[in-house]
Amino acid sequence: MSKEKSVLLIFTGGTISMGENPTNGSLSPLDKDAILKLIPELEMLPVNISSVSFNPMIDSSDVEPNFWVKIAETIREYYYRYDGFVILHGTDTMAYSASAVSFMLENLSKPVIFTGSQLPLGMLRSDAKENVMNAIEIAAAYEDNKPVVPEVALFFEDLLMRGNRAMKKSTEYFNAFASFNYPILAKSGVHIKYFPMVIHYENEVKPLSINTHFDNNIAILKLFPGIQESVVQSVLETPHLRGVILESFGAGNAPRAEWLYQRLKAATESGMIIVNVSQCRIGSVEMGRYETSLNLQKAGILSGYDMTIETATTKLMFLLGKFSDPKEVVKYMHQSLRGEVTIMHGK
Ligand code: ASP
Repeated sequence: MSKEKSVLLIFTGGTISMGENPTNGSLSPLDKDAILKLIPELEMLPVNISSVSFNPMIDSSDVEPNFWVKIAETIREYYYRYDGFVILHGTDTMAYSASAVSFMLENLSKPVIFTGSQLPLGMLRSDAKENVMNAIEIAAAYEDNKPVVPEVALFFEDLLMRGNRAMKKSTEYFNAFASFNYPILAKSGVHIKYFPMVIHYENEVKPLSINTHFDNNIAILKLFPGIQESVVQSVLETPHLRGVILESFGAGNAPRAEWLYQRLKAATESGMIIVNVSQCRIGSVEMGRYETSLNLQKAGILSGYDMTIETATTKLMFLLGKFSDPKEVVKYMHQSLRGEVTIMHGK
């Protein structure tokens, strides 16, 4: 069989990058040869597979922004040599990494598919084999010499999701990820069924460039009934803080306490970017729909619309890294950069 397409596997760490030795049960880091031994079926795919491994490979709970930079730089280094990329990553923070990498890659026109697994390869009942096989097939899928999914996406169990719309929802089940606010890009069964209507295609192919600056001087402030002024104050007065994701109730609501309004208003007036994201998984922030969100609007807080927490967090770090002028950050917060948000005008 002619192996027309080529895919680069990038092992970054997590359960998926470890294989279990069936004789003694020990876990060791994988590379292409080890993965071929554990999944001999990969040889049957009409795809040339190569791999690079990060050194060290890490548990994704240890991921920091410079790790995202490393992933994007690896893709840039090999971009013109491969038709698609599969990023093997721990599941815990995979949604953050997929979001961050989607923002970093400008003019992406090839598939970049993140995947992971709940159990290591080689372990009985492991989900790793299906995830890896499907991710490779998707990364190599071309029609009329054009990639079917030229996006940063995330494959898990049987679903392909836009990377910056996915979130980890389960520590237990194999269907560990969901895309609550955007349709899935493909579903695998007997065949892999793609949904081109919801896949993003660039109008013209331009050279890939990457943005590598993130500013992590941000905080996530989760509201709860009974939250105290001193807590909000200490978050907002964190030295060097430039941005906050405010996790609000329902459609973007918050207590109407005067102190909260005054604190938030003072922060935004001093140039801090505060983005309102709902604690609900499904649906969008709609500031002004209830009286309890009017104050937030008046305090200069931006709507995060239907963004996931993972996406809002990485987008804020990305925009603060790119722009020193808060006005620019505000402008791009109100735009969809990579299909990560559904903007509802006036909300
Ligand atoms: N703690 C692991 C990680 O995210 C879990 C996994 O890979 O599923 O790296």
